[in-house]
Amino acid sequence: MTIRPIRELGDPVLRTPADPVRAFDRELAALVRDLEETVDHPGRAGLAAPQIGVGARAFSYNIDGVIGHVVNPRLVEVSEETQDGDEGCLSVPGIWAPTVRAMHAVVEGFDVHGEPVRVAGSGLMARCLQHEVDHLDGKVFLDRLTGDARKAAFRALNSR
Ligand SMILES: [Zn+2]
Repeated sequence: MTIRPIRELGDPVLRTPADPVRAFDRELAALVRDLEETVDHPGRAGLAAPQIGVGARAFSYNIDGVIGHVVNPRLVEVSEETQDGDEGCLSVPGIWAPTVRAMHAVVEGFDVHGEPVRVAGSGLMARCLQHEVDHLDGKVFLDRLTGDARKAAFRALNSR
């Protein structure tokens, strides 16, 4: 088992767009295994490679007891219908804020062997897909906040 330490806000790797994966090799297999083992923990819903210090476009998820991964994910569908529940991030510990996301989302990409995969979800799964793809673009959920939620989150962040 390899549970990798989580990089936190302030680490430049979280603000750097990740590179596409080009080789579906043993190095990628090790990364995917680490992503899935590190997300397999109560309270963890998703984990993007930059959060464990690797600038590669891959993430894992752990939703409703199902653990999986997507390599080179693309958000191909998002609903107009939105949700605005609380969102948090392993890289921003202790901060939860109401974050508007599409209610339904579809990601297409590849599995660790290079086979095409499509992951669709609603509610928490849709939130996770959008959150993890954001990480691969160097974004965190705080960037999505507006108005009072944004003010409250940054106040909480600054008072840590
Ligand atoms: Zn996150």
